[in-house]
Amino acid sequence: MLQQVNGHSSGSDAQGRESLREDLQEFLGGEVPLHQLDDLTKVNPVTLETVLRCLQARYTADTFYTNAGCTLVALNPFKPVPQLYSPELMREYHAAPQPQKLKPHIFTVGEQTYRNVRSLIEPVNQSIVVSGESGAGKTWTSRCLMKFYAVVAASPTSWESHKIAERIEQRILNSNPVMEAFGNACTLRNNNSSRFGKFIQLQLNSLLVPRDHQMTGAAIQTYLLEKTRVACQDSTERNFHIFYQICKGASADERLQWHLPEGAAFSWLPNPERTLEEDCFEVTREAMLHLGIDAPTQNNIFQALAGLLHLGNIRFADSGDEAQPCRPMDDGAVRTSALLLRLPEDPLLETLRIRTIRAGRQQQVFRKPCSQAECDTRRDCLAKLVYARLPGMRLHPALPWFSSPRLLPALAPQVLPFLAGLLDVYGFESFPHNSLEQLCINYANEKLQQHFVAHYLRAQQEEYAVEGLEWSFVNYQDNQTCLDLIEGSPISICSLINEECRLNRPSSAAQLQTRIESALAGSPCLGHNKLSPEPSFVVLHYAGSVRYHTAGLVEKNKDPIPPELTRLLQQSQDTLLKVLFPADPEEKSQEEPSGQSRAPVLTVVSKFKASLEQLLQVLQATTPHYIRCIKPNSQGRAQALHREEVLNQLEACGLVETIHISAAGFPIRVSHRTFVERYASLRRLHPRAPPDPHSPSPDEGHSAPWALVDFAVSRLRISFGSLCPQRGTGQLEVVR
Ligand code: ADP
Ligand code: MG
Repeated sequence: MLQQVNGHSSGSDAQGRESLREDLQEFLGGEVPLHQLDDLTKVNPVTLETVLRCLQARYTADTFYTNAGCTLVALNPFKPVPQLYSPELMREYHAAPQPQKLKPHIFTVGEQTYRNVRSLIEPVNQSIVVSGESGAGKTWTSRCLMKFYAVVAASPTSWESHKIAERIEQRILNSNPVMEAFGNACTLRNNNSSRFGKFIQLQLNSLLVPRDHQMTGAAIQTYLLEKTRVACQDSTERNFHIFYQICKGASADERLQWHLPEGAAFSWLPNPERTLEEDCFEVTREAMLHLGIDAPTQNNIFQALAGLLHLGNIRFADSGDEAQPCRPMDDGAVRTSALLLRLPEDPLLETLRIRTIRAGRQQQVFRKPCSQAECDTRRDCLAKLVYARLPGMRLHPALPWFSSPRLLPALAPQVLPFLAGLLDVYGFESFPHNSLEQLCINYANEKLQQHFVAHYLRAQQEEYAVEGLEWSFVNYQDNQTCLDLIEGSPISICSLINEECRLNRPSSAAQLQTRIESALAGSPCLGHNKLSPEPSFVVLHYAGSVRYHTAGLVEKNKDPIPPELTRLLQQSQDTLLKVLFPADPEEKSQEEPSGQSRAPVLTVVSKFKASLEQLLQVLQATTPHYIRCIKPNSQGRAQALHREEVLNQLEACGLVETIHISAAGFPIRVSHRTFVERYASLRRLHPRAPPDPHSPSPDEGHSAPWALVDFAVSRLRISFGSLCPQRGTGQLEVVR
């Protein structure tokens, strides 16, 4: 066996000894000042307090990245640190023989991921999970990693592949400003808060010689855009950036064309005076152009967006007679929005004010005037419907520039692609008023936390037990009980909200609160709800407790799209809307059913759950790498680390447990083959003397190198995995 693997040995003897010495130094460590401790596993003792002190010392010294075993902790600097993200530094990490020996950085994680993907020994799909609460720096981190891959993975060999790599790089980088313009908004927690989740998959071509490894394609999957924001914003927050961009950045001609005079007031445009860095229309346009969205199409998109702003200005007044439809209070708003969306004006007004219902055995069609509130709901629904289909967020399959979610095809079909996935989802949120959006966002965060717990904290300890290694179990906070409360079966918060949608019965916010509290009273994660004047319930999430208000929860979950609205949009004369809402000749009449329907209702929660499960399946098939972003303070100030806020975040993500397991566990996990390739040369150089029964010290004369090997053997976790079916520590004898 040894000879067989010796044949694969690539390192020289000197290299082997040097590597081992470096490993030893790393293990033994020395007294280093707190701010120079690159790895939190070296903090002694490991407690929340000592970890915080170390991070604080590093933050004060402008050091923002720290290793914590398998995780990288990233503190948000809240100030520009350009030297930390320069292409030169990216190349330095890429070229380093051992990037983990350089200062902790997101590029170490990026490079490790890249190397694992292209490893000829064990290539496996990789993912980087970036987590942290809103404003902690997830999107920034993902953006920098995309730039990193664009720089290091586009090292072309031929002119053709150079062109492909360049195009992918451009597209990947340009997708950021476009997606952020359409999917980010200013919230209480973050001026540039992502209101959607995204999973970027970079396709890396792994069968070329390692140094020429290239990016051959990319795909971006988006999750649950918070589209309610188009029509409903908190007074302290803002709508999606793109609306402000068109209002501020349009030329004089465009202002005329889109009916956006300077200083015009729109009810869906709160806080326009707050000018943000993100409001740069030119950057978005340029990026759209690079993505292949040409100027005329862009014009159509922006005109439709202006149409939505005018739609938001339509107000209805009750007619005072149930048989009469509500009156629009401003005919101008109806006319302008119809004009910009290129919809016929009368049908627009009729659709917003009158509901068609099919009822009875003959399925007769009835027309029923809507109440004022219903008119508002239909108006909002129309806006959400259009916005969610506009290219920018949604890579619409009907449109030529996004014919598939993949931005570019793979280089050659015979080349096996491996994927590096990059996940940036909305962070944990707790506002004064939380609704279905926060429930979904926090649910996603619970799922990801569970993935981390299952993958790292549990799986690693279980593996030690299977391998028969001495190990005292480190306890950790398992969030399964909270997930049971949210999504469990047969009864959970999601199932109760879905049930209300299915039964389609009138139900007050207070009734929903009572139902949730009585059906789920046994859950330790359902908090006490004594103080709130409004109907609500409290969930004790792993990252903190959140009060969810029940008013409007069921309606939001239904997210009903009255079929008349779709039919109205199919009448648009706008070339873009025609593509987005194609007339369907097969379409059956879909008037709203009256009374109770038993048809399965595809609710927002159930769709979200399904896409979350899909995402987790993808993640589970990869080797994950974790980056935990920490927000030093909630004001976004540089050089200010608030102890309590950081402590809460450290506690919430179970960082101390992670460090304990990493520190007490086996810090280096290499496959058997790699281990032998790296260190077997030592054996040839210093053959162990046969044991002499007369000598008190059988290894005398060879003790130095063999002490190193013994030390390595005692410290290295040999993971046999698929390479060596006979698992167990006995295999170490091969090296000795
Ligand atoms: P999240 O996606 O976690 O909600 P963002 O990535 O949008 O948070 O970060 C919030 C803000 O923090 C950014 O707009 C930026 O101003 C700042 N920020 C985050 N990370 C960094 C960094 N590494 N360097 C400088 N500023 C940063
Ligand atoms: Mg974000």
